[in-house]
Amino acid sequence: MIKIGITGGIGSGKTTVCHIFEQLGIPVFYADTVAKEIMVTDPVLREGMMNTFGIESYELSGKLNNKHIAQIVFNNKTELEKLNALVHPAVFRAFESWQQTIPADVPYNLKEAALLFESGSYQMCDHSILVTASKAVKIKRVMERDSVTSEQVEARMDKQLSDEEKKKMADFLITNDESQSVILQVLELHHQFINLTK
Ligand code: ATP
Repeated sequence: MIKIGITGGIGSGKTTVCHIFEQLGIPVFYADTVAKEIMVTDPVLREGMMNTFGIESYELSGKLNNKHIAQIVFNNKTELEKLNALVHPAVFRAFESWQQTIPADVPYNLKEAALLFESGSYQMCDHSILVTASKAVKIKRVMERDSVTSEQVEARMDKQLSDEEKKKMADFLITNDESQSVILQVLELHHQFINLTK
């Protein structure tokens, strides 16, 4: 089955676009959501976290101690790399087992990840889609959705590659700036992906 990675900057609307693909019957693996879940549920990952960042990585209730981890990795590239080296393979394992659950007649699936290009996980997909919108539109959306300031949105944006960089790596683009129909763009790609499987 063809694997399509889909990404986009904060507020680009990648999750919204994925919901449209889901309406067409295409299964979507939300890598960032799964990453948060398996931090708690994957025993191998839990053990790795505790060995690397200490027993205090988890609260007594079993919940991840986000504050502890954030304090360690915040602005510390080496520690962040250690975290990624634990989480990325675990997400990949989860993606592989998720794929086994998809019926054989489904033509392709999507893997949504905010850092698809930054993490290198696009290399494990057959094709990639970049969802784009102007910086102003993205800031406005996230300010409204998360009740945050434009400075806070820009600080988050600064941690991601720019759209210009990502465009060089993406195979397909969806422009989600409210100037053209995103549904028509999704339908067009859907047909292209189905044709690729023939
Ligand atoms: P993040 O990386 O922050 O999770 P995202 O790229 O997944 O963001 P969404 O959560 O899909 O983005 O969209 C951000 C906000 O913008 C949401 O509130 C969503 O409803 C809104 N939005 C997305 N696309 C459109 C659109 N075409 N028209 C109007 N609102 C939109």
